Amino acid sequence: MTGMTETMTKPAVLILLGPPGAGKGTQARMLEEKFGLVQLSTGDLLRAAVAAKTEAGLKAKAVMEAGGLVSDEIVLAILKDRMADPDTAKGVILDGFPRTAKQAEALDGLLEDQGMALGAAISLEVDDAAMVERVSGRYTCAKCGEGYHDSFKTPAVPGVCDKCGSTEFKRRADDNAETVGARLEAYHAQTAPLISYYDGKGALKRVDAMGEIDRIAQDLAAIVEGIAD
Ligand code: AMP
Repeated sequence: MTGMTETMTKPAVLILLGPPGAGKGTQARMLEEKFGLVQLSTGDLLRAAVAAKTEAGLKAKAVMEAGGLVSDEIVLAILKDRMADPDTAKGVILDGFPRTAKQAEALDGLLEDQGMALGAAISLEVDDAAMVERVSGRYTCAKCGEGYHDSFKTPAVPGVCDKCGSTEFKRRADDNAETVGARLEAYHAQTAPLISYYDGKGALKRVDAMGEIDRIAQDLAAIVEGIAD
């Protein structure tokens, strides 16, 4: 196994940076389908830990509900655990990680240890003012996870998921106007500085993420194809 990886190109890691509502999850899912990379969302991992009432989940719950950032220690432990799963060896899209300078530095070390290369850090550039409406109207199919929005993307048949036909939908507890404000603040204070961190490494790509979902997906696909060349 070790002999094989040595002769193969290093699996790529993509980072999606952007405030809540920028479309990181939607775009990560699309990239996953198109390129077979694995979407790895620390938000999803934390929500699963909260639902399972693990020790980490119990600690994270209140912080997440208030729109703050969960401690680096908890997030890093959860991420390392997930990165140890064999499916991540083909490359991952990090959605919502790293969010602090400490996480970014820890990721550098982790990639080195695992023999993975940083393909690109993609900043999804959006107008902050539009994010509150985007986030507070969104919901997903409870079965397949397809994303919808009260105003911008409703199912073709009301109440029925376009993708899998399920009639069950769910909304995140933190997707409300009050919490979004705190999440945007946390983004600007702690995560936005990572844009210059990755720019300094020559890994940053900026994508205008205000337009059509499909056009943004094409821009991202072009970046991924550029890395593979
Ligand atoms: P998300 O699904 O990425 O919007 O994350 C939802 C919430 O989970 C955030 O508001 C944070 O409370 C927490 N969270 C997710 N990822 C991280 C991270 N990398 N560092 C700290 N907190 C995180």
